[in-house]
Amino acid sequence: NRQITVAELPTGALTANHFVLQEIEMPTPGEGEVLLRTILMSIDAANRSWMKGATYRDAVKAGDAMPTYAICEVMHSNSPRLKKGDLVAAETVWADYTACDARKVQKLPGIRPVSNLMSVYGIAGKTAFHGLVGIGHPIAGETVLVSAAAGSVGQFVGQIAKALGCRVVGIAGGAEKCGWVVETLGFDACVDYRDPGMFKALRAACPDGVDVYFDNVGGQILETALFLMNERGRVVCCGAISQYDTADATGPRNLPGLLVVKRLRMEGFIVMDFADRDATALRALQTWVQAGRIKVFEDIVDGLENAPGALIGLLAGENKGKRMVRVGPD
Ligand code: NDP
Repeated sequence: NRQITVAELPTGALTANHFVLQEIEMPTPGEGEVLLRTILMSIDAANRSWMKGATYRDAVKAGDAMPTYAICEVMHSNSPRLKKGDLVAAETVWADYTACDARKVQKLPGIRPVSNLMSVYGIAGKTAFHGLVGIGHPIAGETVLVSAAAGSVGQFVGQIAKALGCRVVGIAGGAEKCGWVVETLGFDACVDYRDPGMFKALRAACPDGVDVYFDNVGGQILETALFLMNERGRVVCCGAISQYDTADATGPRNLPGLLVVKRLRMEGFIVMDFADRDATALRALQTWVQAGRIKVFEDIVDGLENAPGALIGLLAGENKGKRMVRVGPD
């Protein structure tokens, strides 16, 4: 049984040296626990933010195994709730096998491919749906702007907004990614934030201003987006990836001035807040996927040992779609 532990906390950018792969004993599940074999691990920008300190969950410290959301097979059960062979979602760690309290494990439906339970029907799709619909309240004909547009959450935000009849503009890194967002994901436009002319390009791409900005990145891009917001616009604060992997994070200027003058509403959320509306989200997502309105892009990296590289690469913008690591077969 292999496990990846945080060897040292980063002070600047994350590198492979911050992790160590260890051979550890096979866990023995106690009373009420299950032994889980990891199939897929979600690679999230949040993994990096947990290393910066306590957030909505405890901080990850040096010496900790990296926590992760995973899809697993039950290998042994000491609980009547689950049986050997069940497919489950659980918060585990970067490891081949873990033992877990059966009450904290969620049995998954038999959807195939299993990876869809992590992308469109998992954290990415649910975050996109709840943030956009539950907080952004987009109305057909409005302009929705989304950053990290080619990423796990961003791809679904834009496609959901299109399905709801909005004009959709993305922000992503590099001309190639922006082209992919427009041609493959079907956004109306996508602007490269690395281009020094970003503000002008964004203004041209949003001739009627921005009604909903779904912010995955914070920092300078959030500042730029705020200038383009229409009166009574909604800013959905989903994450701040531009600030996770650096020691000098700058926030937007002109706050709260712009909020006051434009009567903006800016609201953060964590996907779990909307758990009571998950069934609605899943029904809507399934309908759109089956109708071909939402295409699902996944970026699967093979091998537990490649998890650190997968996270470092995600922060550098290597991925298109939902990044995850395959640890073992379905
Ligand atoms: P993504 O799959 O979206 O990957 C992250 C992308 O962010 C990269 O591909 C990269 O694309 C972009 N990026 C990296 N650095 C920067 C930067 N400095 N400025 C702008 N863009 C950058 O990752 P996740 O889906 O894991 O996360 C997306 C966001 O959603 C994160 O902020 C995360 O914390 C948040 N999140 C929030 C949840 C919630 O409940 N609130 C739940 C899940 C995620 P590019 O090539 O375009 O730079």
